[in-house]
Amino acid sequence: MEEILPLILSASGALGVFPFTIIRFLKGDWGVGLLDTCIVAGFVFLGVKVYRTGDVRGPSILLAFLCVAGVISTVYLKGPGQIYWAYPAFIALFYLLKPREALLLTFVSILVLIPPLMETLTTITLTTILITMLVTASFSYAFATLTRMQRNKLTMLATRDPLTNTGNRRALDQKLTSIIAARQRTAVQASLLVIDLDHFKSVNDTYGHAAGDQILIRVTEIIKLRIRVTDSLYRVGGEEFIVLAEGQNIERASQLAEQLRTLVEVNELAPKQEVTISIGVAELYDGESCEQWLSRADEALYEAKRAGRNTTSVASIA
Ligand code: GH3
Ligand code: MG
Ligand code: MG
Repeated sequence: MEEILPLILSASGALGVFPFTIIRFLKGDWGVGLLDTCIVAGFVFLGVKVYRTGDVRGPSILLAFLCVAGVISTVYLKGPGQIYWAYPAFIALFYLLKPREALLLTFVSILVLIPPLMETLTTITLTTILITMLVTASFSYAFATLTRMQRNKLTMLATRDPLTNTGNRRALDQKLTSIIAARQRTAVQASLLVIDLDHFKSVNDTYGHAAGDQILIRVTEIIKLRIRVTDSLYRVGGEEFIVLAEGQNIERASQLAEQLRTLVEVNELAPKQEVTISIGVAELYDGESCEQWLSRADEALYEAKRAGRNTTSVASIA
């Protein structure tokens, strides 16, 4: 999805410059013809790289520099008549880079472009060009910043649980997929803690659903305070949570589970009733899929429930 913009930009860049390459060669203008060929080849190369690897950030930075270098060198070689290229190039920067990076690169490019423009243009034409370039940059900056904010907000809405401000099921699935992929490349360790509140139905029955919600929030606060920055917390069911402990083997993950279980037990979350949790722990094994890993952790959770609740249980190897 993210790669669409750099792909469109590299394709339109290549197609836009290509006719001029032909014209330059036909006119015997070898220097600029060669420059245009390099620009077209650069666009094609980077476009293919994005398409093949799916890597966006690196090629986008190179594309941005290619756009700017193309405009500057053409203006220096062929004169101020080529300044029209600066407008699409500057707009492209805001699609390829972070808004502030794009703004900085635009300013630097404008400064570099001033000397050849000053040589031949009247003051009024030069001023018009500079002001229209700055206006283009500010509109693009505003638009890019707004789009970025909206995208961050959408990502947050799509991946966070609004009640407890933890990750939701979708966020967990994304994270698990990336951990499994990382495991195939290197020997990373990771463990899952599946946490379920004990007899939560009766807590709701006694205190009401709203108080139940507050207890869920408190439980997540207790967990968040204890887990490390590399661990992440997700709400995957009404009163069911998952801690993904990255870099932790089964021993350390079980210790963490015991600490969490005890912390919830000793915190008096409800006045007349003990609120406790049961936890199933499973470490990721080689060649295991997300589903297999999750189902082993679930099985351990049911074991903990069968053992009388307020218990931690460790999953066996499949
Ligand atoms: P167990 O120890 O076997 O897990 O018993 P339980 O009562 O917790 O399990 P069960 O799955 O039967 O019931 C889960 C209850 O959790 C049902 C519902 O009342 C409560 N619950 C689920 N989602 C929410 C929620 O978002 N807010 C509140 N307050 N309660 C919820
Ligand atoms: Mg429960
Ligand atoms: Mg449950």
